[in-house]
Amino acid sequence: MSMAEVASEKKSVAQFLKENRPKLNWHFTTACNFKCRYCFIDAARNVKLPDYLVALERLAPYFSEINFVGGEPTNDSRTLLTLMRRTRELGMKCSMVTNGYNLIHRPDKFDEVFDLCECIGISVDSLSSETNRSIGRQHARQVISFDEYVGLCRRIKSAGCRLKINTVVSALNQDEDMSDFFREVNPDRIKLFQIKPSMRKVYGELLISTETYRSFVARHREFREKMVCEDNDLMTDAYYMLNSECRFMSDCSHQENRKSPSIADPSTDMEEAFGYLIVTQEKYEKRY
Ligand code: SF4
Repeated sequence: MSMAEVASEKKSVAQFLKENRPKLNWHFTTACNFKCRYCFIDAARNVKLPDYLVALERLAPYFSEINFVGGEPTNDSRTLLTLMRRTRELGMKCSMVTNGYNLIHRPDKFDEVFDLCECIGISVDSLSSETNRSIGRQHARQVISFDEYVGLCRRIKSAGCRLKINTVVSALNQDEDMSDFFREVNPDRIKLFQIKPSMRKVYGELLISTETYRSFVARHREFREKMVCEDNDLMTDAYYMLNSECRFMSDCSHQENRKSPSIADPSTDMEEAFGYLIVTQEKYEKRY
């Protein structure tokens, strides 16, 4: 059911969300220590912590879980931890998707994250240093090594969090075989995304056909029970998303970059703001 169909059933989107309480991906920061060539993070500004807290309070009746994503959520540890603590106090679950660099290089700062999160997703697009460099997955010229990724995954699992690996398949890693890594870390879930064209950024030379994407998936078929595969079609309109200005938004495949008024402003009507979500509920549910 799309949001438009929800409205046509004479049910308000707010009512639908209260009944279903989906998971929200909150791109609460645009800052990142990596520079992936296909990063499609929106050029929005970040708001201040008190505004984020107002938004969080207003989200609680409608969403059961906040997935903190970026940018890189660990780039501002104070904001991240404050928001995660408050999320739990408000009765919602927390999860996070990170590139892993700060968790590896500044582990002392993030101990609490492991207690607060049910699930931590690590984006691992390649186990080859050369490929990671060509994608832009490096900070201060340092890439994450195979052993560092393995150590981080073990840390996540030993803390009792679910481990998810997210991999974007592009022209740069389309021939890679990540099976040894998946065997070594035994993630709970593996998400393989076909690189998505963006209306906001040009990286046409990195795009691949659905056939090429499917070959990558087939190479990793021994993990099929844990795999969630999202080609361009399945990924489109499948996420509830809020950006770093606390505005609901559609994904980057939409030409028209519609964003709701900020829900950090208490005068913003939530029903009006929900009207900017473009989500096909069947696609959302298929992921779980
Ligand atoms: S790690 Fe994620 S947020 Fe950071 S540059 Fe890469 S794609 Fe963008």
